[in-house]
Amino acid sequence: MTAKGNTTDLMHFISKQMRMSHIYQPVMIKALLENGGQATTQEIAKSLLAYDQSQVEYYSLRTKAMVGKVLTNNGVVEPIKDGRQITGYRLTETTHTDTQRAALQAMCDKAISAFISKRGEAIWGHRGPDSGYVSGSVRYNVLKRAKHRCELCGGHEDRVALHVDHIIPRSKGGADDISNFQALCMTCNTNKRDTDDTDFRGVLDSYSDRETGCIFCEIGAGRIIAENELSFAIRDAFPVTEHHTLVIPKRHVSDYFDLHQPERNAIEEMLHAQRQSILEQDNTVTGFNVGINAGASAGQTVFHVHVHLIPRRDGDVVDPTGGVRGVIPSKQGY
Ligand code: AMP
Ligand code: ZN
Repeated sequence: MTAKGNTTDLMHFISKQMRMSHIYQPVMIKALLENGGQATTQEIAKSLLAYDQSQVEYYSLRTKAMVGKVLTNNGVVEPIKDGRQITGYRLTETTHTDTQRAALQAMCDKAISAFISKRGEAIWGHRGPDSGYVSGSVRYNVLKRAKHRCELCGGHEDRVALHVDHIIPRSKGGADDISNFQALCMTCNTNKRDTDDTDFRGVLDSYSDRETGCIFCEIGAGRIIAENELSFAIRDAFPVTEHHTLVIPKRHVSDYFDLHQPERNAIEEMLHAQRQSILEQDNTVTGFNVGINAGASAGQTVFHVHVHLIPRRDGDVVDPTGGVRGVIPSKQGY
């Protein structure tokens, strides 16, 4: 590795050579420059954190909803406004001398460290595991699965900050399994919580809807070959080919198009897992048909959504051309 020693080299690296897959490289270089050429890993991490919009938005909301109000009520600060929108705060008294300002800062530092040493880690409890805190790797995988878009409105991460949340909260028994997470933008997340609380609870509760007499709601536990938070898999009782599998949402819902996005995610994840396990069990499998019959006209016979995962093998029919086009047999080939 050749050292990028002088300013010209470093400028050349930044402008011409740096291949960015994220903002990490320039942020790290900047942090090092700001710290006189070296910085601890923690200092670099803190610089990155400052760019993480979901964190910044989270603490912006906290500032406005809590600390900003308290300090305003105590006459310490006043809000800076753009129309009705609060855009910042200023101290009500700004005429401190340098010495006074240093003394005030030292008093704040002392109050902060005294509080931290008294309460310890617990002060970050609202970001801790029991309160829906989501680890970096889970967050990464959920965002990846959501293609970096809000799973309700479709907004892209480039435009909206995405939050990764439990679907069924841990306090209500929800698991830390990736199928129990969803990515929502700030707006959808806030609306869901604040204005739509009842509806949202309705969605949550609906995940446990079961219907008496439905063969999939009442399937014996022994038939279930795999499950995640919102879906499960069984082998089809009348298999089209060996290992024909059905992936089924736990909630009783008849139509595929009435599924909630998190259920689609759970089903998608289960399809991948089942495909993998079939391929591992049976090396004659060379392809799959994946299909949903939505509505009696389309051939649906069990009115609880299920996705057929049908393993295919070279030569299992004389001419496989057209695959699912075979729903209208005379049109399968083309
Ligand atoms: P569909 O026509 O898409 O509604 O398909 C229903 C599927 O469920 C068929 O492939 C059946 O073979 C399958 N099936 C029906 N009853 C059972 C059962 N008790 N256990 C497993 N699979 C079943
Ligand atoms: Zn059912």
